[in-house]
Amino acid sequence: MHRNGCRTMKPKTDVPSTRANEVGSEVEEEPPSPQPCVPLAPHLPAKNLARRKLALHSPPPDTPTPRRRFKQIYYPDISERQWNDWQWQIANRIRSLSQLERFLRLTPQEQMSAECLQTKLPLAITPYYLSLLVGRGEAYPLRRTVVPVINEFITQPGEADDPLGEENQSPVPGLVHRYPDRVLFLTLDFCSTYCRYCTRSRVVGHGRLFFNRRRLENALDYIRRTPTIRDVLLSGGDPLTLGDSRLDWLLTRLRQIKHVQIIRIGTKVPAVLPQRITPQLVRMLRRHHPLLMSLHFTHPDECTPEAYRACQRLADAGIPLGSQTVLLNQINDSVETMRDLVHHLLQMRVRPYYLYQCDPISGSAHFRTPVEKGLEIIRGLRGFTSGYAIPTYVIDAPGGGGKIPLMPNYCQGREGDQLVLQNYEGKTFHYPDVMS
Ligand code: SF4
Repeated sequence: MHRNGCRTMKPKTDVPSTRANEVGSEVEEEPPSPQPCVPLAPHLPAKNLARRKLALHSPPPDTPTPRRRFKQIYYPDISERQWNDWQWQIANRIRSLSQLERFLRLTPQEQMSAECLQTKLPLAITPYYLSLLVGRGEAYPLRRTVVPVINEFITQPGEADDPLGEENQSPVPGLVHRYPDRVLFLTLDFCSTYCRYCTRSRVVGHGRLFFNRRRLENALDYIRRTPTIRDVLLSGGDPLTLGDSRLDWLLTRLRQIKHVQIIRIGTKVPAVLPQRITPQLVRMLRRHHPLLMSLHFTHPDECTPEAYRACQRLADAGIPLGSQTVLLNQINDSVETMRDLVHHLLQMRVRPYYLYQCDPISGSAHFRTPVEKGLEIIRGLRGFTSGYAIPTYVIDAPGGGGKIPLMPNYCQGREGDQLVLQNYEGKTFHYPDVMS
């Protein structure tokens, strides 16, 4: 039981018991509060409150109206309270192509993917995320990130199920120890929505990596007896699909290890299931500082009012937020789209952290872009927007070499003791370099 005694007991009626067990749903969970996350100033006259609220919240690009219309059409009997309950969203995920056909006219490529779903990454989309892509056409970027196509079944030369060689760097099940001072801790293999380009598609969604305390204790033991580990990244699967109590248990156990200085959580929840970011969750998380979060945003259309609110709650809890974005062919591979995304992220108080070249996982050729495209995007951002908005473009080296940063070449060479540099406008400048 949590230290704060403000939880209400809620019967677990919405979540099927096996699924509830898998995601760590617990009876003491309560649905998200519909209250605004920034308390409104009581001294302001009512007519000023809306204006004041607008000033506090950076206005997102659209309103929840399309989501409301989607709900009215497809879920007319579902109350707002249910819709905003993260456990309802998880229990009512779209899990098959036949379910998906109720919402989308599937293309032949999408229909043919049914076979890969038997053996590979399963299909799952929260009703909330589906509401963002219904009615937008088959080429719509968000649709392509979550609706499978037959191309996933075709492995090209150079692709592999585990391109980063994580299995070879795993001292105990569910733990990857690549860099000396930090570990990747796979808490479970469950996500609320599966991204078709997922680097860990060999693991996630297969129902084999559970929140099993014996496995977790093994991993904790390894961390405990390895004093060089100062940074633990909880990932998966998505750790925020665990219930508050389980997450609290794990964070508490990690916090008891003296040499663990920081804990990071990798999650896509604010983009695909923002309802999960409840006041109760952030109250629990803030007890485990220093805690950081790596969020996973792909496209500016994910930056909805709901996502803004989720990020605001996390930021208000003092959690530094960074975003990791995968560069994806015809999804976010233009300067304009990426600029739009990073500008939204900064307004959401999320620092664009990494831009990843898409890993060569099996069946990912239709998602991958030439590296030159990534460099072109960085060139189109540097100098044209705030430095805070520019992520580090990296390739995660196949075979387990770690992240390697890539930069456009701004250094043109040397003329005597002068360094020849090119600025963002392509103009040449000389810098008197000190010779060593
Ligand atoms: S949320 Fe992360 S772990 Fe889950 S499917 Fe997407 S990329 Fe993979």
